[in-house]
Amino acid sequence: MKKYNFGAGPSILPPEVIKATADALINFDGTGLSLAEISHRTKNFQAVMDEAQALVKELLNVPEGYEVLFVGGGASTQFCYVPYNLLEKKAAYLNTGVWAKKALKEAQLFGEVVEVASSAADNFTYIPKDYSVPADADYFHITTNNTIYGTELHEDLDSPVNVVADMSSDIFSRVLDVKKYAMIYGGAQKNLSMAGVTFVIVRTDILGKVSRPIPTMVDYRTHVKKGSMFNTPPVVPIFTCLQTLRWIKEQGGVAEMERRAKERAELLYGEIDRNPFFRGTVTCKADRSYMNICFVMAEEHKDLEAEFLQFATERGMHGIKGHRDVGGFRASCYNAMPLEGVKALVETMQEFERLHA
Ligand SMILES: *Cc1c(COP(=O)(O)O)cnc(C)c1O
Repeated sequence: MKKYNFGAGPSILPPEVIKATADALINFDGTGLSLAEISHRTKNFQAVMDEAQALVKELLNVPEGYEVLFVGGGASTQFCYVPYNLLEKKAAYLNTGVWAKKALKEAQLFGEVVEVASSAADNFTYIPKDYSVPADADYFHITTNNTIYGTELHEDLDSPVNVVADMSSDIFSRVLDVKKYAMIYGGAQKNLSMAGVTFVIVRTDILGKVSRPIPTMVDYRTHVKKGSMFNTPPVVPIFTCLQTLRWIKEQGGVAEMERRAKERAELLYGEIDRNPFFRGTVTCKADRSYMNICFVMAEEHKDLEAEFLQFATERGMHGIKGHRDVGGFRASCYNAMPLEGVKALVETMQEFERLHA
């Protein structure tokens, strides 16, 4: 039976990417050495780093003035790096879920934080729209895709101040206007690579403006200056990143990823809305995520939840159990999820409906 990985993260990668990584772990670039045992200073690895950074710029159309960094620590460490480097007096945060809240909490260690809006009272089932960002804030932090709740900002926001975006779970799934962001960051393990590497795209003119001293490793300028090679970077995940970036390019680029994401999402949300056994959890349909599709059993079928989970798992649907904060199910449909996977899930839902009709 074919297995489809709907896990939220770490998550599905293209089979070609897994294969290329496995091969390089045995014999990297014809060196006769494993990728895991070579120095990051070799010219073979430098070429990997250079191409990965160049491809991020090419695929996202990154304008002049920005640098691409690959660092360790995950998106969660960026929650601290961002205010450390950018918050002098005041920062604005949009609270759209657990990750957004965690980012906000870290910033409070560094200065005044304004929560411009929050959908916490409604368990983050929509993204707040009517709010204003204080014009004197040092930056405005957003989470473009709320992995746990299945809401997503489908457009680049206008803001009076620099926008910093956590794009851990939707990077490379939608065409972006990068110049609307001063910084974009995220853990790679949702749509790009395995766990262990964090991508940062930063407009360098925003750095060096705060008065506090910044420890070397936390200072973005260190990584800009040293090309993400100040210390040993996560070599294997960066290699995997490069393979995914090449794959995205071969498939037709980010526009094609966006087309596929919409196609998958339309199919699955269509079934969720049609099938009387299920109900989508996001109340504002325009905010429904293309990446993490959350649904629960309809009220009158609540008792069938465990049964559907088992039913779907037996049919090869891996990782669809919802996050404990939402319950029910979450089908994560990242870039590497083939349309067949979503078709198989839809068929499973229809089969379940027939069984219980
Ligand atoms: C997974 C996730 C994180 C946390 O990422 P780590 O790399 O595990 O720290 C942060 N933000 C969002 C939106 C996520 O989906």
